[in-house]
Amino acid sequence: MRVEKVISPPLDNNAYLLVDETSKQSVVVDPALAGKELLARTETLGAKVMYILNTHGHPDSTADDESIRSITAAKIAIFEVDAPRLEKNARGTRWFLPAPPAPVKPDLLLKEGSELKLGNLVITTLHTPGHTEGSACFYVESEGALFTGDTLYAGSCGRTDVQGGSPAKMVFTLRRLNELPVDTRVYPGHGPETTIGDETWISDLAYPVV
Ligand SMILES: [Zn+2]
Repeated sequence: MRVEKVISPPLDNNAYLLVDETSKQSVVVDPALAGKELLARTETLGAKVMYILNTHGHPDSTADDESIRSITAAKIAIFEVDAPRLEKNARGTRWFLPAPPAPVKPDLLLKEGSELKLGNLVITTLHTPGHTEGSACFYVESEGALFTGDTLYAGSCGRTDVQGGSPAKMVFTLRRLNELPVDTRVYPGHGPETTIGDETWISDLAYPVV
């Protein structure tokens, strides 16, 4: 598996391209406004985008969902609980976006344990509420890779004081992620990569996280 990261507007988001190098099938994780750059990279790599995976429905992470789908016919997927955010986002202006995003109807509603196949890779959905009700992490167990969106960052976690956030659920979620193998590589929605083993602060968490 090859992972490419693009640090992108609107909020220094990390947008990822995961490529199964045998089949050349790929997925975008949280495109933000990196659509053009991500598509340029798929072209260079000769890869085809099969899915656009959203770790959650906030408009900074999902901004280029529709523009990538319209060009690639990839399927937009999001955990079912956060799906309504994709349509709601179109109703409001945001200071960090040039215009409200297009309303997006997802093609796939993910649940806990949903598996997507990408060549020989299996991407498993983990429901990880806390930043939003329907936040999810995408786990490629065979590669020891976890895409955490705004749930887990290097040294911290996503905000829980935003709409849909819950400090109590975030604690539960972080403790769950802490059970994954220590060498699991974490690809967060903002900031540098880390591993589960490096995030020792999770074991010391006291309720609640604020
Ligand atoms: Zn967010």
